[in-house]
Amino acid sequence: MNSWEVSDSLKLYNIDNWGSQYFNINPTGNLTVHPKQWSGPGIEIKTVLDEIKGRGLDSPVLIRFQDILRNRVTELNEAFSKSIAEAGYAGKYRGVYPIKVNQMREVVEEILDAGVPYHYGLEAGSKAELAAVLSMNMSSEALVICNGYKDDDFIQMALIGNKLGKNVLIVVEKLSDLTRILTISKKLNIKPRIGIRYKLSTRGSGKWKGSSGELAKFGLTTPELLHAVQILKDEGQEDIFELLHFHIGSQVTNIQTIKEAVKEATRLYAKLVKMGLSLQYIDVGGGLGVDYDGSRTNFQSSINYSLEEYVSDVVYSIKEICDAEGVREPNIVSESGRAVVAHHSVLLVDVFGSIALGERASSLAKASDEPDLVKEIRYILENLTHKNLLESYHDAVQRKDEALSMFKFGILSLEDRAKVEQLFWIISREIFKLSKDLKYTPEELRDLGTTLADQYICNFSVFQSLLDHWSIGHLFPIAPISRLDEKPVNETVLVDVTCDSDGKISKFIDLRDIRNTLPLHRLLEGESYTLGVFLIGAYQDIMGDLHNLFGRVNEVHVFLDDSEPNGYYIEEVIKGHSISDVLDWIQYSSPYLKRSLKLKIDDCVKKGEIKPREGVEYQDFYDEVLSGYTYIKNDMRLENMTRSSSTNINNDQDLKGKKLELI
Ligand code: PLP
Repeated sequence: MNSWEVSDSLKLYNIDNWGSQYFNINPTGNLTVHPKQWSGPGIEIKTVLDEIKGRGLDSPVLIRFQDILRNRVTELNEAFSKSIAEAGYAGKYRGVYPIKVNQMREVVEEILDAGVPYHYGLEAGSKAELAAVLSMNMSSEALVICNGYKDDDFIQMALIGNKLGKNVLIVVEKLSDLTRILTISKKLNIKPRIGIRYKLSTRGSGKWKGSSGELAKFGLTTPELLHAVQILKDEGQEDIFELLHFHIGSQVTNIQTIKEAVKEATRLYAKLVKMGLSLQYIDVGGGLGVDYDGSRTNFQSSINYSLEEYVSDVVYSIKEICDAEGVREPNIVSESGRAVVAHHSVLLVDVFGSIALGERASSLAKASDEPDLVKEIRYILENLTHKNLLESYHDAVQRKDEALSMFKFGILSLEDRAKVEQLFWIISREIFKLSKDLKYTPEELRDLGTTLADQYICNFSVFQSLLDHWSIGHLFPIAPISRLDEKPVNETVLVDVTCDSDGKISKFIDLRDIRNTLPLHRLLEGESYTLGVFLIGAYQDIMGDLHNLFGRVNEVHVFLDDSEPNGYYIEEVIKGHSISDVLDWIQYSSPYLKRSLKLKIDDCVKKGEIKPREGVEYQDFYDEVLSGYTYIKNDMRLENMTRSSSTNINNDQDLKGKKLELI
């Protein structure tokens, strides 16, 4: 009887807490996406995947739910409008989306389109980003903020943007930027509009706290800021200084830090206004975080506040200081990136096999002339009880170590060593299983769960699709997209298809801690099993690399449409890199590759080593592989799936029963 319900899966994968009402599970056990949150319609992810596969696209595939982007933009802007109205705040909100977080044109266009009613603008951090930003249609009141290090071309391009009717504000990151901006603008005869980034002494919290404080790589110190003001006064150009900027880092985990930073910056704003400067804006930068693990704590993959709390704290903190200083309230700019785009994309990866430690590979039949060591380890297995688990484990470890030493000295055969190892893993699994019944489980036995976890082989590259997980240990929620009405019985870690032992996921979100394993279902022969990796819309898309030449993944853009039978349509299909694409990138052009293979084939044909017909077949096959996807193909997956019906620590097979058969 299946006593497992959909609500158990919601709890196990913590979906309600990290999902921000965008994700749910339907009664048939399939994961659904609700781009307008739970009050709106839902789309079954599996149905989308089936359609994608029906169109000949394979996994891994990235699905962008464009309506989620729109919803995020609306939520952010409406939250500011509401707080501003409630506080009786005199200024306006003029948010900008920093395109570095996800530069994909369709993503930026969707955000801008949803942001038109709010005059939502863009932030660029490099020349290339500014070139893209200037090409975009946006409200005439929207801002364009230029951050980052700037050469003369960057400054010139920003000034031209102003001439073309955009509200471009060039942010001075270091003192020398200011003199260059003044010189270039004089030369072009275009009046600049500038912001100045200030090095707050308030430090951020979380992984990116190094973006602020005195040692930060951007921004002016207090003496430098005063010097900049003097330069502007000397030039008679104080009026071009419109915006005071700070950024204390991405994913700020603690709301207290945000409040302190905003207050420090507003105090500075007030003093500058009192010095006679006509500043219009305070730009509070990025940092609005995403609750990736759903724990609502100041843990690195979480945040201890909501979007509404963030917005209200920004508005009220600025107001409080302005009231105290008796200065007018500035317009508020924020550069939230992660919080706008993280939720909209889901990576789907197929599991195509599993590796279980100690899979039964050779015979364990008893032999009359067995060495004592094998007899001893059998004895441990036969006499396991709840009372001697720890002792038995220690004894088994000792026998395994002895087997290795004896093998090295040449006094244990290869077959007997294999027996000892296999019996050791059987004992370990049995001990782990029995230890779950104990009131207190010793740490050594608890850790066995991680050691014995199945490795599920997933068709994707961590380096291409989840770089932050590999580089900084960032955690993303992961859950199967189907069978969620069924109890997951295997504890697993996920390994990717790169030839790199780092290409794996062995840390998972948890409400209280970090999990070392992810509970998943047993793989079934002939049935695909797909995992969704969620909240990956920020930063991951652009930072991925071509390790092992696994390229960009297939991508589809999905829109809600209640006139469609399944409530959605796929607007855009972007094929992932082919093998020839990635090879081209590193200077192996396809024509060159094909030609050199042809020369080799011709040579073999000439020498009579292969027949001409074979040569043609080889060439055709090579050409076909070059034009194919860089990831693992279906045929290989089916083969592995068949292989993977392993004994597992958590499947409910009765190892005690099995034991008799083995001994
Ligand atoms: N603004 C600046 C200057 C940044 O450096 C960043 C990223 O670190 C952002 C905005 C976006 O930050 P977030 O994605 O945390 O909102």
